[in-house]
Amino acid sequence: MSDPPWQTIKKLAHDRARGRCEYCQTDEINIGQSMHVEHIRPGEGDDSDNLCLACPNCNLSKAAAVTAVDPEIGQEVPLFHPRLQKWADHFAWEDDYTLIRGITPIGRATVIRLKMNRPRIKLSRRRWVQAGLHPASEMKG
Ligand SMILES: [Zn+2]
Repeated sequence: MSDPPWQTIKKLAHDRARGRCEYCQTDEINIGQSMHVEHIRPGEGDDSDNLCLACPNCNLSKAAAVTAVDPEIGQEVPLFHPRLQKWADHFAWEDDYTLIRGITPIGRATVIRLKMNRPRIKLSRRRWVQAGLHPASEMKG
């Protein structure tokens, strides 16, 4: 059997993530831009285990990186892996769901590398919270 076409792969990745970035949790509907299907480990193929949904910012900021430096311990650590790790084990919301705090070396390194708390996204999150569009109900925990 041949590999499924990219459109099929993309739809599966989209549905699995419910249209939200698997790094910063941004909802496609809130930003009005298509999510990217991101290769978690570039060069390791189009297997669904190596793919995640990512917003344009996270995808472009991550680029080909698989590691980054945790500013707290000053060491290079792996970036968050959405297929192997749980978001809530590495990140937490703060400041009324406008700021993502890394709570592990992996979380902290990923927040920095992917620029998950850029000033503009924090302003957007504030508006989404005010409008009742963020966070998604299952994120409130
Ligand atoms: Zn993102």
